[in-house]
Amino acid sequence: MAKCPKCGTEVEKPIKEWEIQPKRKKGPRVRISLFECPNCKTRFRTATRVA
Ligand SMILES: [Zn+2]
Repeated sequence: MAKCPKCGTEVEKPIKEWEIQPKRKKGPRVRISLFECPNCKTRFRTATRVA
C-alpha cells in the first residue's frame, strides 16, 4: 500500500513490481513498486529494500 503524493489517496495494489539487483554482490536488493492513483491517475514509484 502506498499513498499518492498528489492527492493522498491510498493505493492498495501496485500495477507493476520488480526487483533491482545491486551491482555489488553484497548490496541490498530493492523492490520497485509502480502505483497508479485511481483518483487522479498520477503514477508514482516506491522503493523497498528486500532483505
Ligand atoms: Zn492521486
